[in-house]
Amino acid sequence: MITITSAFDSGNIEVLSVDGDTAQLAIRRDHQSDFYQWFHFCIAGAAGREVTLRIMNCAGSAYPLGWPGYRARFSDDGDDWRQTATDYDLSSGVLTIRHTPAGERVWFAYHAPYSMERHRQLVERIGAMPGVTTRELGRSLDGYPIDCLDIGSGPTQVWLYARQHPGEPMAEWWAEGALELLASDDPVARRLRAAATLHVVPNMNPDGSVRGHLRTNAAGANLNREWIAPSAERSPEVLCVLAAMDATGVDYAMDIHGDESIPYVFMAGFHGIPSWTDQQGLAYDRFGELLAGRTRDFQTKHGYPLAGAGRANLSMSTNQLAERFGAVAMTLEMPFKDNDDAPDPERGWSPARSKALAHDCLATLADVIEKAG
Ligand code: ZN
Repeated sequence: MITITSAFDSGNIEVLSVDGDTAQLAIRRDHQSDFYQWFHFCIAGAAGREVTLRIMNCAGSAYPLGWPGYRARFSDDGDDWRQTATDYDLSSGVLTIRHTPAGERVWFAYHAPYSMERHRQLVERIGAMPGVTTRELGRSLDGYPIDCLDIGSGPTQVWLYARQHPGEPMAEWWAEGALELLASDDPVARRLRAAATLHVVPNMNPDGSVRGHLRTNAAGANLNREWIAPSAERSPEVLCVLAAMDATGVDYAMDIHGDESIPYVFMAGFHGIPSWTDQQGLAYDRFGELLAGRTRDFQTKHGYPLAGAGRANLSMSTNQLAERFGAVAMTLEMPFKDNDDAPDPERGWSPARSKALAHDCLATLADVIEKAG
């Protein structure tokens, strides 16, 4: 008999039934919200035997197109995450994972998780390095600090913020890669620290992260729809970050996400903001072209449709920051599936690739800022 638990940091699964080595499961909705897609759970008692895990409610998830072609991640140690046999049946909306655990316990997740404990250690480790200042910008509704690390002394103001959507942990892997580079002796880091002051918020949504949410905070708010009028009651995370941005101004901003459906890395910009200028748009395009030239893990062909003139949604951070500050603002999307231009059959899109992409983004940013200066 197998046992299944999700009673841990970022855990999410509901056990409907267990019959021998087959389990019927469902993903829990975000608190006070209809969103769900993130799962993370542990199976015990099946060493050496194939288990069949059927997630029954995938058709009603936030992004049903995220399931075809997707492969679930498993880990024997909570550290190294690989893909395992996964099938999605379009007619029933059931995702079936088949796996033979090597040991007594095995973890499954939608993508390699990034725990709050790892977040705490990241802030302490990078915050202790020379030239790095750590600030608590505010608190979430559940009482977690909204941590910000400031690095560099140049005049250009850069904001990098990740994980407004908590069930997109690739965003915080990216932030870890960015912080490790920025605090290092790497020539790119030295150039950026001289040209810019960088403010990094590695996790905008700790409540949702711990609760195992896909998209919302403890009040059921989608933080990336709160940027017109954030409030202490509903979205204190955005309120405190936007106040800190108002204090510094913003020249460049990157909002880091994962996309459930599209198997490529891409960016979304701020087309359709009221104060759009072609110069601002060209600077955005230039960044994307340079990044695509630097790595196969970025491209500009696949992505979201562009908003028409005046149609931008200003409750989304990238549009709000481009409008409010005239910033070159970018939403970076990494896949839950894989990058089909350079697939990795073993791990899919992985933490190592998120971190490597952060390095390429920062090298591109250094080029762009120096050229603009
Ligand atoms: Zn997102």
